[in-house]
Amino acid sequence: MSERFQAYQIGKNDDGQRCTLTQLDDSDLMEGDVTVRVEYTTLNYKDGLAMTGRSPVIRKFPLTPGIDFSGTVVASEHADFKQGDQVILNGFGVGEAHSGGYAQKARVSGDWLVPLPEGLSMRQAMAIGTAGYTAMLCVMALEDHGVKPDQGDVLVTGASGGVGSVAVAILSKLGYRVVATTGRMNEKDYLLGLGAADVIDRAGFAEKARPLAKELWSGAIDVAGGNTLANVLSQLKYGGAAAICGLAESMSLPTTVAPFILRGISMYGIDSVMASIEKRKVSWTRLAADLDLQLLEKLSFDLDFADLAQAAEDILDGKIRGRAVVKLP
Ligand code: NDP
Repeated sequence: MSERFQAYQIGKNDDGQRCTLTQLDDSDLMEGDVTVRVEYTTLNYKDGLAMTGRSPVIRKFPLTPGIDFSGTVVASEHADFKQGDQVILNGFGVGEAHSGGYAQKARVSGDWLVPLPEGLSMRQAMAIGTAGYTAMLCVMALEDHGVKPDQGDVLVTGASGGVGSVAVAILSKLGYRVVATTGRMNEKDYLLGLGAADVIDRAGFAEKARPLAKELWSGAIDVAGGNTLANVLSQLKYGGAAAICGLAESMSLPTTVAPFILRGISMYGIDSVMASIEKRKVSWTRLAADLDLQLLEKLSFDLDFADLAQAAEDILDGKIRGRAVVKLP
């Protein structure tokens, strides 16, 4: 028998897109071979863009937003999953072109699911969420480049946000000396509490970058793009690397080739959405091992399902600190 469940749904008409909290039933579920009872979801910057319509994230209407969730399999025709399995989903177009985590139920392809790693609860998985899993992909890129704790400071931009907060916590646990930049200097104690050795005002990164500046960072994780990233690149030490994943400041990158050809720096683009399942499994296993779960508690907070629409505005306005965890009603 078809069961009704609560869900956000984004529709579109001539006036634009509109997000409502409504009741759906099984006939509204999209195609897929695994049905999941969603237990937790979260709020990422991209969810903010999708829910508010400030950027054309949603590519199919009507659609349930939510780019990630953790939950329990209730039905499966996929060889790797059976009823009762605990799973995580991030990306693969979910919450953009396929209905996502802002519903009590979701039907997806089993090829997109990762088993919940040992050592993490479903709540902790969403306290990490796509932002935290992306932070780990960034850390892994710096490690693969050869950035080591004894080579000097590592910079994290947008440090009070989701990706930034988790990146600070992981890097400091791995022994790096982390410098955090933030536009919210009132969050200095929070960032020191996550393990940052120093906290600096992002205003210093806002002006147009010089081609080369004083060499300060052996590595960097950037969520901002724009002048911030251009300044970071100019300040990387010889042979250093930046892992870049975001555009919180801007999509543009007003830089020159100078730091690349004169200091041999590298820039790694990080995409979490279509990353391979193998990479995801490594990232999630590493998160279970290399993220201090007490710090995770400190950087996350509970958000009511009913408050997601307002919080979507807030995250775009830079008002959300750390990671929101949403328990499905
Ligand atoms: P949050 O909103 O939680 O964090 C973004 C942070 O960026 C803010 O908290 C703020 O930190 C900083 N910031 C905001 N505006 C500016 C600005 N004008 N200049 C410099 N810094 C600014 O978002 P998330 O952490 O979830 O995501 C961060 C970025 O990464 C987003 O652009 C998102 O789309 C992207 N992303 C990309 C992924 C991928 O697969 N490539 C996956 C996940 C996220 P503070 O106040 O401390 O300065």
